[in-house]
Amino acid sequence: MVRADNVHKSFGSLEVLKGIDLVVKAGEVCCVLGPSGSGKSTFLRCINHLEKINAGRIFVDGDLIGYRERGSKLHELREKEVAAQRRAIGMVFQRFNLFPHMTVMQNVMEAPCRVKRESKNEVRDRAAALLDRVGLGEKMDSYPGQLSGGQQQRVAIARALAMRPKLMLFDEPTSALDPELVGEVLDVMKDLARDGMTMVVVTHEIGFAREVGDSLIFMDGGVVVEQGPPRDVISNPQQERTKAFLSKVL
Ligand code: ATP
Ligand code: MG
Repeated sequence: MVRADNVHKSFGSLEVLKGIDLVVKAGEVCCVLGPSGSGKSTFLRCINHLEKINAGRIFVDGDLIGYRERGSKLHELREKEVAAQRRAIGMVFQRFNLFPHMTVMQNVMEAPCRVKRESKNEVRDRAAALLDRVGLGEKMDSYPGQLSGGQQQRVAIARALAMRPKLMLFDEPTSALDPELVGEVLDVMKDLARDGMTMVVVTHEIGFAREVGDSLIFMDGGVVVEQGPPRDVISNPQQERTKAFLSKVL
């Protein structure tokens, strides 16, 4: 479902990604760990072309992201074509980024109605089902400001799912939450994983990575230092940098 080949990304003279390779199969959950500044968010943003890569290739469900290949040359896709690719990729950030002036229901319905121009009735039914699924069926007429952080993050997940993505990207979805609210968001993500959603999850929640992840990559300094089944990497890290990082977060 996701394949990254030798992805490089620089900001000016700062090389942030130095050749990232990754394969995530359909239905799998890949967790991404690494210290601050190692390039985790940048890599996620490259997957949906919020950042343009300088070299390499990223494929999502067989589609080359951001470019068309002719011969050996890459040509940038038009904005519209990039937008179409992005619609298939849901993203959830650390901050919930809900529209504050819209109700929970309106937040979830917004993109399918406005971007995909789907019929309101259909979208409303789907949105209601998604809100039930994340445990917020009762809150559909509330405004984001009336919800806890954990509830807002669950709305953000429902909103991403309303576009029926093939792939979900999570960038530290629980790190802005009070500790007692982390579990409810992780439970929703576990449920999604169980349901077969392909997910790339940047997280410091080692327990989640161990329990839910099919694979784990540890990044540092813009490279993948170590990867493998989460249990192996967490209990038996091979690289010094991985050991040092894990000893701090475990
Ligand atoms: P954290 O755990 O703190 O979220 P991260 O692993 O997600 O860290 P990134 O946000 O990907 O790290 O940042 C990697 C490096 O790229 C950092 O040195 C950061 O300052 C730099 N960087 C990120 N975005 C930009 C940008 N738009 N312009 C310039 N530099 C950037
Ligand atoms: Mg980050």
